[in-house]
Amino acid sequence: MGLIVQKYGGSSVADIEKIKFVARKVVETKRKGNKVVVVVSAMGKTTDNLINLAKQINPTPPERELDLLLSTGEMVSVALLCIAIETLGEEAEGFPGYFAGIKTDSFHTKARIQRIEPGRIIEELNRDKIVVVAGFQGLSPENLITTLGRGGSDLTAIAIAAAIKADICEIYTDVEGVFTSDPNKIPEAKLIPSISYDELLELASTGAKVMQSRAVEFAKKYSVSFVVKSTFKEGEGTMVKELEVKEGAVVSAVSIDENQAKITIFGVPDKPGIAGKIFSSLGKENINVDMIVQNTGKDNRADLSFTVNINDMEKALKITEKVAEEIGAEKVNGDADICKLSIIGVGMMNHPGVAGRMFTALAEAGINIEMISTSEIKISCVIRKKDGEKALKKVHQEFIEKRG
Ligand code: ASP
Ligand code: MG
Repeated sequence: MGLIVQKYGGSSVADIEKIKFVARKVVETKRKGNKVVVVVSAMGKTTDNLINLAKQINPTPPERELDLLLSTGEMVSVALLCIAIETLGEEAEGFPGYFAGIKTDSFHTKARIQRIEPGRIIEELNRDKIVVVAGFQGLSPENLITTLGRGGSDLTAIAIAAAIKADICEIYTDVEGVFTSDPNKIPEAKLIPSISYDELLELASTGAKVMQSRAVEFAKKYSVSFVVKSTFKEGEGTMVKELEVKEGAVVSAVSIDENQAKITIFGVPDKPGIAGKIFSSLGKENINVDMIVQNTGKDNRADLSFTVNINDMEKALKITEKVAEEIGAEKVNGDADICKLSIIGVGMMNHPGVAGRMFTALAEAGINIEMISTSEIKISCVIRKKDGEKALKKVHQEFIEKRG
């Protein structure tokens, strides 16, 4: 007998048959003697469709009203799932975020959870009901509906699990868990039985998005361990928790991000303050810069390259060109034909030589490395986009398949 939070994503409740399936799963869990709280996302592509409706009226809809609109998506799922659960003979109580005690700040469309008052959830659980909560939404101090950023139902589930001290939080989705690489590209990719919060966060930042990053950060902060698993396929899934370094393999996963672009400023005067000027201009416009490399050239001039998300490339180019002119740099170049290959693993922290192995593997495949960046548990290389899949295969072989 346990206290369980289950979260079902949009693809798990995309149509009525799926909602009925989820209801059976939930009821089964309850009938095993557990108390169950279910968090649901909006059906399928509902959220995108709602955003699209609003944009047909105004390309930048007011955020308060957008939140009001988006919150309806999750409510539909809650109501339908409750109907399906009751049809199976169990009692259900469905809550929008504001009845579930989810209090946020006032930053509409990306509100942060400030606290959870789980009184009503607990009351209904004690009445032997299955509680179904709308994910992705909360209530601001002004008593307005807020949403928690795209993918925010994950955060709702983790935060509720923390607040009610659930025994386990299960995140159900359309994949079987976290893999050593993208199984669509690497058939040899294996399911990872357990992974640390930090590795999962690095994976998200290198292009392999399994869960909302904010939800993982929240789970880490409050030590909520959770499991990611498939709704429709049986399996153990991937356990996410704080890992002892010795438990991890050297490299846990290899990922590729094909949504990166490289911007290079040639002939930057080599003097103090220039880099500060370039990157604060980008920061002011909310452009996230990832990797940065500077080559000191001749005549007191340097070339400076950095990467941004491909969607930000045009904007970043405009800003950079303007700054380049101000500082007297020679020219600016944008390059979208790149990708970022990363290896991630807490095991790297106490295994020297990992970088060398990665670079040698790439060299053996005849692949040139253009930029490198490292953290304690990650090494990323920028390479040509056309080399991406080959590099991914080679590096996955080197670190994951060789391990046996
Ligand atoms: N429905 C919201 C979205 O699509 C929240 C979620 O699915 O977690 O972003
Ligand atoms: Mg979703």
